[in-house]
Amino acid sequence: MDMNRRQFFRVSGAGLAASSLVALGFSPTAALAETRHFKLARATETRNTCPYCSVGCGIIMYGLGDRAKNVVTDIIHIEGDPDHPVNRGTLCPKGAGLLDFVHSPLRLKYPEVREPGTDAWKRISWDEAMSRIAKLLKEDRDANFVANNADGKVVNRWTSTGMLCASASSNESGYITHKAMRSMGMLVFDNQARV
Ligand code: SF4
Repeated sequence: MDMNRRQFFRVSGAGLAASSLVALGFSPTAALAETRHFKLARATETRNTCPYCSVGCGIIMYGLGDRAKNVVTDIIHIEGDPDHPVNRGTLCPKGAGLLDFVHSPLRLKYPEVREPGTDAWKRISWDEAMSRIAKLLKEDRDANFVANNADGKVVNRWTSTGMLCASASSNESGYITHKAMRSMGMLVFDNQARV
């Protein structure tokens, strides 16, 4: 490599400074590794599932706060769960950006209802939401349940209400959900694996 005298001293000086720092224990690699270690050292791990698509990748959420009384946990880091059978620790770009989703001021955290004839959403309690859903389901089923078809055959079907479930659920919760909905005659039943 051709270099003049000035360039030679500049390169030599930089190399000497770097090797001196390493000799004194200031290795850039070691420093970065320590920073990452301490960032999560006092965090609480919580396993969860990515909410976005039907793949259902497993995630680990790291929260600051030891779950003691009056401590509000703050999620500071999210990464793929290496023990999850679906993704083995990997995440796509959407899943890798989950921290922004968690902290978004637009994230819906409570049940809301928009009454007929209004354009405003109103916050309601979980109890109100569950009671309202149960009441509306019953009203619709009572009005539209079909016990026999035109030929007189028993069909016991209810097609005017549907249910959208989560494809990331476990086999057990999927089985129970399926049994509960089919037992009422509901036919319109799907999950986000197909939407
Ligand atoms: S990380 Fe990506 S592929 Fe996995 S569930 Fe989330 S959105 Fe789907």
